[in-house]
Amino acid sequence: MKTKSNAMARPRVVRGALIHYNEIALKGKNRGFFLKQLQNNLLAATRDLGCGPLERLAGRLFLTTSEETSWEVLRQRLSRIFGIANFAPAFTMAPNLELLAQRIEEEVSGRSFRSFRVAARRAFKTFPQTSQQINEMIGARVQRICGARVDLTNPDLTIAIEVLPNEAFVYFEKLLGPGGLPVGTGGTVACLLSGGIDSPVAAYRMMKRGCRIVFVHFHSQPFADRTSQDKAIELVRLLTRCQFTSRLYVVPFGEIQQEVVAHVTGRLRVPVYRRLMLRIAEQIARKEGAQALVTGESLGQVSSQTIENIATIEQVSTLPILRPLIGMDKDEITQQAQQIGSYDVSIIPDQDCCSMFLSRQVATHTTHHEVELAERPLDLDRLTAQAHATAHSIELSFPL
Ligand code: ATP
Ligand code: MG
Repeated sequence: MKTKSNAMARPRVVRGALIHYNEIALKGKNRGFFLKQLQNNLLAATRDLGCGPLERLAGRLFLTTSEETSWEVLRQRLSRIFGIANFAPAFTMAPNLELLAQRIEEEVSGRSFRSFRVAARRAFKTFPQTSQQINEMIGARVQRICGARVDLTNPDLTIAIEVLPNEAFVYFEKLLGPGGLPVGTGGTVACLLSGGIDSPVAAYRMMKRGCRIVFVHFHSQPFADRTSQDKAIELVRLLTRCQFTSRLYVVPFGEIQQEVVAHVTGRLRVPVYRRLMLRIAEQIARKEGAQALVTGESLGQVSSQTIENIATIEQVSTLPILRPLIGMDKDEITQQAQQIGSYDVSIIPDQDCCSMFLSRQVATHTTHHEVELAERPLDLDRLTAQAHATAHSIELSFPL
């Protein structure tokens, strides 16, 4: 499928999705970069739906659909592409008022509505009629054939018309996109993904700000079953609908934890596990060209997430750590997980590696000094090398 630009008036009626963006429009000189990425993402997300070409027009995109295209499937796909503010099933044709009126008459005559309004917008002021004149002319024609009354505040049907120099677009319903910035415009980051509720939401929120995510999951096999790994794979599969290809690193952590248990006093084990995870994840991130780590931490949610412990844990990372959920309540995070569709997977019972090998006492106010002392008996280089030697990666893509 190709993108195209058109310089001549559109010769015939073409159906497709009219796509609007908002934040990208503010990007000044970088707008081209953001739009190019949005176009690439749109093409990737719809490559199996018989759509195309994708046209870039002033302030909007138009994706032509074919008879093969299921609008319902396309709607779901577009509703997950970050950077889209809203989109509409639309048709486009030459910007000729009489032809437009005829076509709109045909389109609305099959619909049942008691009230309507016409909402015309001219992107260019060279069109001979003003928006108000277009509204009045089309409105009168629709009223004559349908007998419906005009209602400017709460109509059953809104006939939206957008007039550009070479074409006009018409649509009757506008659907919300997810907003945000196109994935790929914000660099690559590595997300530490447990099987829990929080980290998939954290990944989602960073994708929404344009980041491409590499996922890293630690598991305790052979001391636990495969459940946490299967959950991580399923969560990445869900999130891949927003970034189209993903890589998930699955890292065995059980034997490393056994060594920690053998050498580190119970109350300091969680910060020591977390520091080891960060060291390992950072090496993976650097190999993948990722510029930051992402976690699902939320301040005060559990003992490892006090401000003191967050400071002790992050000390080992030389990459920035992004915590998009830090100021969110569990209820807010849960709601978002339900919206994304990750919640039902996250609540499947499993043994998270940090809840295994846990001591009953967990220190809530650790210092760098005491955790560094606690780590001294561990051969950190050997343990991180062991993690890399035994880790494997899984590739996922969407659409399949
Ligand atoms: P989550 O719901 O994401 O598991 P949580 O509230 O259970 O978070 P913790 O268990 O303290 O909190 O984990 C904090 C963060 O550390 C997680 O959000 C995740 O980013 C990372 N993390 C924890 N366990 C793992 C794991 N097994 N693999 C990868 N990352 C993990
Ligand atoms: Mg957890």
